[in-house]
Amino acid sequence: MAASTSTSDSKQIKVLVRCRPALDHERDHSTESIQVEADSGVIRLSTKHGNTKEFCFDTVFDGGTTQDAVYEKGEFTKTVEAVLRGFNSTVFAYGQTGTGKTFTMEGKAGVQGDGGSGVIPRIIREVYASARAKHGDDVKFSCSFVQIYMEQSYDLLQADMGRLRSARNARPASGRNPKLSSRLKLRWCKEREFYLEGMSVFDCETPEDMLLRFSRGVGNRKIASHRLNMQSSRSHSIFMVNVDAPSADGMAGDRTRSSLMLVDLAGSERVGHTGSGTKKELMRESVFINQSLFALRKVITSLASRRRQAHVPFRDSALTSLLKNSLGGNAFTTMVACLTPSDAFFEENLSTLEYASRAS
Ligand code: ADP
Ligand code: MG
Repeated sequence: MAASTSTSDSKQIKVLVRCRPALDHERDHSTESIQVEADSGVIRLSTKHGNTKEFCFDTVFDGGTTQDAVYEKGEFTKTVEAVLRGFNSTVFAYGQTGTGKTFTMEGKAGVQGDGGSGVIPRIIREVYASARAKHGDDVKFSCSFVQIYMEQSYDLLQADMGRLRSARNARPASGRNPKLSSRLKLRWCKEREFYLEGMSVFDCETPEDMLLRFSRGVGNRKIASHRLNMQSSRSHSIFMVNVDAPSADGMAGDRTRSSLMLVDLAGSERVGHTGSGTKKELMRESVFINQSLFALRKVITSLASRRRQAHVPFRDSALTSLLKNSLGGNAFTTMVACLTPSDAFFEENLSTLEYASRAS
């Protein structure tokens, strides 16, 4: 049973903006062109020629903000609470390649303690801790992990991904888009709406079980990207967490099922900056990426506006179709817009901030 009352937040989309620090190799070559005023929420972009653009958001993070602070000030605990109250939720990271989407969502391996963990492992731990505190053992968790590349969906947790691993260096003769056994068909039916036929769903009793699935999927994403001959930054990945718990306000025996979609979007840059394929292939990729990011933008703009449009165009892309039940209705959504401090990317930062403003 889905929850029917609305979340306590009047805003259904929360926008966070994070600017990463300059990396060591960038320090000598570029000048920082972003000013982030965390207290006032102002972000100021400037060009070499002195042009400036200013934006204001509820929550902005500068390059010195730790993963701990992003989680806390980004109020991801609210996402956890919403999910446990039965509301589907989504967190997605948006921005050009190299701005810190994966760093924000996954974190960085090798950083000591929990300091390197991103939003996904933290949310996983908190969902379990809160649910167990509330319901003890009477709550079930499961997860799935998929990637969308050129409008095709691939299962990142398919049991036979091991075969992909062993076949890694043996590219079949059928070209750059070999038939992967992990490819999933997007289907629609009245009861389930959009779903991926045959997608693996794993029950996970403990947070460690789920974290293990997550890290396997992250590894598989790299392998699948290699097989598809693309950079993982050219695909969207969606980690899905499902919670099945006793209903808080229903009759005894009623259960609430909710899903949390944790999305690392494909890079929003225009063609030419990244990629290993030919120009024509990159163009094709870009068309698909732009199409789905544009569809997402239309959907969130429509959801963010007070005057709801009668028609929200979820069907326009595989991404928005899959997110349909976690973006519309009572769902609680957080967007993390990621920026790079380098002045070489003024246009890209500008476009990300414009996208983010549409949602806020
Ligand atoms: P994206 O996923 O948007 O392509 P990444 O997350 O891979 O970008 O980040 C690009 C690089 O910047 C990586 O080396 C990452 O470790 C580093 N990075 C990103 N954000 C931060 C941050 N907040 N602090 C330190 N390093 C960061
Ligand atoms: Mg990435």
